[in-house]
Amino acid sequence: MRVDAVTLFPGMIDAPLSDSIVGRARAEGYLELGFVNPRDFTEDRHRTVDDKPYGGGTGMVMMAEPVYRALKKVRKKNSFVILLTPKGRKFDQAAALELAGKKHLIFICGHYEGIDERVTPLADLELSIGDYVLTGGEPAAVAVIDAVTRLIPGVLKKSDATVNETFTGGLLEAPHYTRPGVWRGKKVPEALLSGNHKLIAEWRAAQAGELTGRARPDLAKEKAAKKPARAAKRTAQ
Ligand code: SAM
Repeated sequence: MRVDAVTLFPGMIDAPLSDSIVGRARAEGYLELGFVNPRDFTEDRHRTVDDKPYGGGTGMVMMAEPVYRALKKVRKKNSFVILLTPKGRKFDQAAALELAGKKHLIFICGHYEGIDERVTPLADLELSIGDYVLTGGEPAAVAVIDAVTRLIPGVLKKSDATVNETFTGGLLEAPHYTRPGVWRGKKVPEALLSGNHKLIAEWRAAQAGELTGRARPDLAKEKAAKKPARAAKRTAQ
């Protein structure tokens, strides 16, 4: 997959995505990550990319033209352009799966008070990583690129790693344990030591259900609402 970021601060994305699994995905060619800086598309001596907001107010607004030119430089026919903004669709695992199916993603990262609104229609999707305000779109791009990259086939060496995990089946994942079997007086649950795959699967399903109900009742409710719909569909067939 090819990913480009339109950003004034490429290092804010490049550095955190250079280590660990995503760093390896880049080294192995699963992810090609590029940057284009609106500052390189300015024409004045000071390479100005922002200006005061019309109507007054605090902060500066990124000007449309340098962003437009930077985007034009990397946009291809099959590009999917994402504008990062706290006003966008909330990013989740379903969105990560959708984006993992694209050939080329371009992230437009705002900074300061954001970008001139006239840039918005250039994007295919406005995306937020949560209900809080970051200093810029760069940390949001890092989170989205990380979540998408691990879904690219081959990036995680065990292909089922992304199948049985939190959110994939609509529930939180059951807790994990590793050696030692007893740590500071705390034991690993018996079922996990049994070697009985059916028992382990049942224990994990029960734990996932219990944990989701306690920590994320919204997800549990959503999952329960989907169940009767699926059962009704099966009956009708
Ligand atoms: N004035 C804007 C507002 O109130 O909606 C916030 C601008 S924010 C300080 C600067 C930039 O950070 C935004 O243009 C956007 O690109 C990015 N950003 C901030 N919070 C974000 C979030 N939750 N999700 C995605 N991008 C975010």
